[in-house]
Amino acid sequence: MANVKGSKPMTRFEELTPSFWREVAKEPGGELSARCFACGTCTAACPVHAVDARYNPRQLVHMILLGMRERVLSSDFIWLCSGCYTCADRCPQGVRVTDIMTAVKNIAAREGYLHPTFRQQAELVGRFGRLYEVEDFDNKKRQRLGLPPVRKTFPEVQEIFRMTGMGKYTEAAEANQP
Ligand code: SF4
Ligand code: SF4
Repeated sequence: MANVKGSKPMTRFEELTPSFWREVAKEPGGELSARCFACGTCTAACPVHAVDARYNPRQLVHMILLGMRERVLSSDFIWLCSGCYTCADRCPQGVRVTDIMTAVKNIAAREGYLHPTFRQQAELVGRFGRLYEVEDFDNKKRQRLGLPPVRKTFPEVQEIFRMTGMGKYTEAAEANQP
């Protein structure tokens, strides 16, 4: 069947993964999604939704329950959750939407869907041990202001990066680039 002009491609029944919610439930904090009765309180309270109505936590939880695995994991929207826990505080069913978003992001990262923004940040941390590169220019400027120089790299952070295997998530995301 043709899609309505401008609408998202329809998800076909055979593309669904009915056990997806169980997979999410195995992740820390992801176990409560099945309690959701789709009241929308989380969405109404969400500060990110207030800024961009396309971000809809109720819809994402529902998509998880429906088994729309591929659509959820590849969605840019899962990366927009700010982790503020407002939804979790308001949910009448005690669903920890914030933790569910974290669980979904963890699965997405393992499967090569780490968002490019986070991938770049992770790569910087792996390379320098910090989120941005310090140039000689920065330290000269600090010197002029009478401030001590800033280290260019933090080997101890790089070591944590290496020990946690973070590099494999950025490599998986790079390999998954279209
Ligand atoms: S507030 Fe809770 S029950 Fe209501 S839609 Fe959100 S997650 Fe589901
Ligand atoms: S934790 Fe995420 S989904 Fe929940 S209200 Fe905050 S931004 Fe929205």
